[in-house]
Amino acid sequence: MSAQLLDGTAIGRAMREDLRPQAAALAARGRRPGLGVLLVGDDPASAVYVRSKTQACEELGLHHETTLLPATATTAEVLAVVERYNAQDEIHGVLVQTPLPAQVDSERVLRSVDPAKDVDGFHPENVGLLVQKRPRFVACTPAGIMEMLRRSGIAVAGKRAVVIGRSDIVGKPMALLLLHADATVTMCHSRTRDLAAVAREADILVAAIGRAGLVRAEHVKPGAVVVDVGMNRVTTAEEARDLLEPARQEVFARKGTALVGDVHFPSVRAVASAITPVPGGVGPLTIAQLMANTVAAASAR
Ligand code: NAD
Repeated sequence: MSAQLLDGTAIGRAMREDLRPQAAALAARGRRPGLGVLLVGDDPASAVYVRSKTQACEELGLHHETTLLPATATTAEVLAVVERYNAQDEIHGVLVQTPLPAQVDSERVLRSVDPAKDVDGFHPENVGLLVQKRPRFVACTPAGIMEMLRRSGIAVAGKRAVVIGRSDIVGKPMALLLLHADATVTMCHSRTRDLAAVAREADILVAAIGRAGLVRAEHVKPGAVVVDVGMNRVTTAEEARDLLEPARQEVFARKGTALVGDVHFPSVRAVASAITPVPGGVGPLTIAQLMANTVAAASAR
């Protein structure tokens, strides 16, 4: 058996196309949805994410602004940018790209975002609303995954779901969304004993760990749906041989680098019924959901 590929690029594109009429209607009423982005420091991965997000705004005709601060920025300087976006009429969504440098008080910064403009869903007020099943803005990666499952006709109610990873931005909100969709949910993390045995219970398995290829065939029940959130960079030939399918190994040999998920794709795709690839899986869904949240924020104003 070879799993069906869940094409995040195509689904993300469809999600963005579906937003176009609403975005245009808002613009026609003088309320063009706008996203304010803050990038602190010069982390290359963060810069790539920010570029993909602003490019998505561009394609959808949304207004966007990006403020760059140096890696030495203080908490006060970061807060000042957030305050400016909070006050600005043409900005409906505020996105602070994480991680922030160590000297910046990240928790205070995320709390300072106007909850009505918190399109990342990280503010405690929005997290609380999600916990109470009254969601307003939900973290983009898990919300985008739920939308992908819906659009792919994958039913969640009554299923056993296992989420590996308990971060505030992926694992926890993912588990809550699956729970609210009536799955029976188990959360796993770095201290889980016999991860493979727990993961094998899953009809829907979500990996959000940040360890290349940690989830192997032995973690997956035959026929399970596997969602791979991880984004890890492979740089050694040994890793590449283990983690990449033959076609991608040739590309690696030329470029010396490749992006992989937390799932060992070559072996798991033979066991699962459906799987998200990396790249081209969860990443594009996250961006599409950010656009959806930004349009919703402009609409709710
Ligand atoms: P994190 O580091 O905050 O959390 C990782 C989680 O994995 C922790 O809860 C930890 O308990 C768990 N973990 C670590 N080692 C483990 C092990 N050996 N067994 C079981 N659990 C273990 O990471 P995060 O921010 O949630 O991100 C996870 C991954 O997803 C990263 O690779 C990140 O780059 C990626 N990510 C992708 C997107 C996207 O849009 N595709 C968005 C966010 C994060």
